[in-house]
Amino acid sequence: MNAVVSYLKSLTLVELVKGMGLTGRYLFARKITVQYPEEKTPQSPRFRGLHALRRYPNGEERCIACKLCEAVCPALAITIESEPRDDGTRRTTRYDIDLSKCIYCGFCEESCPVDSIVETRHFEYHAEQRSDLLMTKEKLLANGDRFEAQIAADRAAEARYR
Ligand code: SF4
Ligand code: SF4
Repeated sequence: MNAVVSYLKSLTLVELVKGMGLTGRYLFARKITVQYPEEKTPQSPRFRGLHALRRYPNGEERCIACKLCEAVCPALAITIESEPRDDGTRRTTRYDIDLSKCIYCGFCEESCPVDSIVETRHFEYHAEQRSDLLMTKEKLLANGDRFEAQIAADRAAEARYR
């Protein structure tokens, strides 16, 4: 019986007509395809992209080398070394994030008591060799300088909704 139904279906092209009907429905529906990179979808202020280390407005780096971010990182992607400066404050001498290990969970950002390490909205980056994925302190501070305006605006927006 099944064989007969199947034969009749293929003879009358029912499946083809159904498929064409589905195609026709989507032909006139609102298009949801985004022509990336010319067009982009909206981003959340909490988007977790490339990492950055922030500075205070006077140029001083925020990080106090407490190593909370290193301790909380589930991927063991952060490596910090530190020592006291002449003025008695403690600062990092090394702050590395291995992006090949990072899972972009945001725990480092959440654990930081001085809002130093953050994940920016920047996601359009690539690496041609493994060393490109090692974010050193210098690279992270440079990211912070580059994206500070956006980071500060997102923090202000978040504070308004708390
Ligand atoms: S985003 Fe998560 S995995 Fe990546 S460095 Fe921060 S804590 Fe580690
Ligand atoms: S980035 Fe924040 S959590 Fe990590 S060591 Fe510096 S101050 Fe501590």
